[in-house]
Amino acid sequence: MKVVITGAAGFIGSHLCDKFVKEGFYVIGIDNFLTGNPENISHLIGNDNFRFIKYNITNYIHIPEDIDIVLHFACPASPVDYINFPIQTLKVDSLGTFHTLGLAKTKKARYIFASTSEIYGDPQVHPQSEEYWGYVNPIGKRSVYDEAKRFSEATCMAYHREHDIDVRILRIFNTYGPRMRLNDGRVIPNFIGQALRHENITVYGDGSQTRSFCYIDDLVEGIFTASIKEGIEGEVFNLGNPEEFSIIELARKIIKLTDSQSTIEFLSLPEDDPKRRCPDITKAKNMLDWKPKISLDEGLELTIEYFKRKLKRRV
Ligand code: UDP
Repeated sequence: MKVVITGAAGFIGSHLCDKFVKEGFYVIGIDNFLTGNPENISHLIGNDNFRFIKYNITNYIHIPEDIDIVLHFACPASPVDYINFPIQTLKVDSLGTFHTLGLAKTKKARYIFASTSEIYGDPQVHPQSEEYWGYVNPIGKRSVYDEAKRFSEATCMAYHREHDIDVRILRIFNTYGPRMRLNDGRVIPNFIGQALRHENITVYGDGSQTRSFCYIDDLVEGIFTASIKEGIEGEVFNLGNPEEFSIIELARKIIKLTDSQSTIEFLSLPEDDPKRRCPDITKAKNMLDWKPKISLDEGLELTIEYFKRKLKRRV
């Protein structure tokens, strides 16, 4: 079985490449390194079951051989990144979605789309289930990501209805773990980097906003299950850990786990920062028989160890 993974050098994409190779698939990874990092896949280069193509998928994609599954995971995913690369973000989840869906259509392949909890915007319903349509500012700074993902979901469903493509849409909630960039701007790498350097921990707003954090290994299991299961064409699943924490709780936890002398500094809240976010994963539990197993404390310990090793290598 052959799969194509876009965003192969990214945080989630590279872990997916590992998983599919480990499960016996042949993986063609594509990335243009806009926010991905060649180091994330360097260990796979030379593996007979992996091939890498450096390419920008906002251009037409040609792959000569047969493909069984296309996974579209390319996109800047940190708010800092997608606000820095607004047009690229819009293009990869519009033109890139058309090209990858076109590839799936040509190859009669299954199509897995990496959607996001951001399609719920600043949710007015809590926790968020797949039936909720969201509350999104269409012209705010975050809209380049939120609306591109919403547009991509609509495109997936159009290809499913019009061309009978077996699409599955995965709405991924906050995920963390090894291979995130220390400077990618997301809350967990920011706080761990600051705590390890004993710098101020930058809490935006008063820190009462909440998020629910899923460890990468749990997420990858969910994505893999949703990719190989039969009979779930056209379905949408929330994937995330439903344990909800405030950002201030997270800051205190990271200070404690790193034994840091850092203190908390309060900065202004970014535009349209969602106040609460927590997935309802009932559907994934029932239909995929999946739920996360790794607690925030366990996952943070593993992530802190990874960042400690990275920082040591830099000295
Ligand atoms: N945040 C923070 N300090 C930071 C980075 C992020 O307080 O240094 C907050 C951010 O305002 C948001 C939450 O942490 O409320 C999660 O932010 P992240 O950028 O990780 O992703 P989001 O869930 O907003 O997509």
